[in-house]
Amino acid sequence: MTDTTAVGQTTGRNPAAPGAARTVASAVPAALVARLARGVTATGEPELVHTTAPLTGERLATLPRSTPADVEVAYQLARRAQKAWAALPVRRRAGVLLRFHDLLLKRQDEVLDLIQAETGKARLHAFEEVLGAALAARHYGRKGPSYLRDRRRGGAMPVLTHAVEARRPKGVIGQISPWNYPLELSVGDALPAFVAGNAVVNKPDTQTALTALWARELLIEAGLPADLWQIVIGDGPVIGPAVVEHADYVSFTGSTATGRDVAQRAAARLVGASLELGGKNALLVLADADLDRAAEGAVRACFSSAGQLCISIERLYVHRSVAEEFLRRFAERTSALRLGGGLAYGADMGSLVSDRQLETVTRHVEEAVKAGATVLAGGQARPDLGPLFFEPTILDGVTPGMAVCGEETFGPVVSVYRFDTEDEAVEAANSTTYGLNSSVWTKDARRGQAIAARLHTGTVNVNEAYAAAYGSVAAPMGGMGDSGLGRRHGSDGILRYTEAQTIATQRMLPIAPSFGLDDEKFAALFTTSLKALKVLRFK
Ligand code: NAD
Repeated sequence: MTDTTAVGQTTGRNPAAPGAARTVASAVPAALVARLARGVTATGEPELVHTTAPLTGERLATLPRSTPADVEVAYQLARRAQKAWAALPVRRRAGVLLRFHDLLLKRQDEVLDLIQAETGKARLHAFEEVLGAALAARHYGRKGPSYLRDRRRGGAMPVLTHAVEARRPKGVIGQISPWNYPLELSVGDALPAFVAGNAVVNKPDTQTALTALWARELLIEAGLPADLWQIVIGDGPVIGPAVVEHADYVSFTGSTATGRDVAQRAAARLVGASLELGGKNALLVLADADLDRAAEGAVRACFSSAGQLCISIERLYVHRSVAEEFLRRFAERTSALRLGGGLAYGADMGSLVSDRQLETVTRHVEEAVKAGATVLAGGQARPDLGPLFFEPTILDGVTPGMAVCGEETFGPVVSVYRFDTEDEAVEAANSTTYGLNSSVWTKDARRGQAIAARLHTGTVNVNEAYAAAYGSVAAPMGGMGDSGLGRRHGSDGILRYTEAQTIATQRMLPIAPSFGLDDEKFAALFTTSLKALKVLRFK
């Protein structure tokens, strides 16, 4: 697997995307920031916290910082609002999502600007968030009521016991979200909670709080009671534990390390938690793959949102017989990606979000190269484009001792490995404690599906990078192993925010000795009944 057949190293730096006339300062004026900041739950004279725009390094926003006491206030307000909200018919609650969907599509340019300004990603990748949130809104707006309806279940005694499974809201959901998909991961996870009759106290990452605050405003415009979605801002280790401490259920998205801490705090309080965590995702190119489609797909898989996407690909396994040709096409396409930070469509990849991200990416690449890896494309920071740009990078000859081999880089860096047999490819893909997403490329869809069944990941995309599985919002999405617990999307994504309640009503006969039967006769009668029910296939 470690043989590194020489592949023509592509030359040159990635081109710059055409510039855009609009600047971050003009797209996110101080008046907009001030208006959105009023949506933060922070009382008294709060301390202020500042964010900068990754694309340029200039000051972006000044926001109030919530304290743990503010988090408590947020829960009090949310709890009060939740009672009235849960009493509304479910279709009225779902109607808010349907209106939100329409408003979001109409007003998408506003939030595309905010997402780009806060994350530095290309507009096309910001649009993926609009798509994801719109799909979730429409899905839960339409299907939410049927996921939640009462369901008749087989009773203890046929005919005599009428049993119904009902779904009750948990109450107030504590939701903690990261910076990388600020619209999708704040609003997308909150929407099913609202339909199920809950309130939400959300702690977005401070860096991307404006996007969450904008989405909250839009939901209020769509009919959500203002107190139902509380947003608190502050450092994770300071107010994150307070969000968990008061929650009736926790919805966390972020790193595996923080997820473990959150899970332990939730477990200590005996409240449930869903955890959407990190990954080291693999893509397999089989010998029969359409190499052009696979190369294009691999570019999307590895470099969307500059690789700062939990389901993006960081390990690429290619069949030895097509490796040379595939890597030539993949490297060519990668080197041609246009990098840029204009607030307009046109760039293929934007910048990283923070110094911390740039440091990790640089360290992983430099260490690997020093230890003998070869750069097939990219490999350099691009300060000429902005403070946090790094080229989309393909590494060959990566070996197990290198950090980039096993650790999540969470940046635009992929390592390529060759395989000879399917078994070898599956074993290599599964050789990680993570289990979030994978991608398989082959002209034979059935073969791809058969391999998918052997991969230890919550989603597998056959002949697509990640959007096919993630966009299938009717089906569950989440991670196995160190990649998480629980699922978003589909029935799992909404039922996690409910308590199941069984209401069983007994008719005519009690389930106890009666009508003069003594205990022994009662036991004999029930034994006979159970045998009869078995024969009749009622039980
Ligand atoms: P992170 O764990 O550092 O932070 C995530 C959130 O948790 C932030 O809001 C942060 O402020 C908060 N937080 C930090 N410490 C906390 C604590 N002690 N208690 C409670 N909350 C705390 O993660 P990150 O670096 O911001 O995000 C990147 C990570 O998220 C990557 O590992 C990525 O794979 C993962 N991610 C996973 C998914 C998924 O769906 N599986 C989606 C996006 C990102």
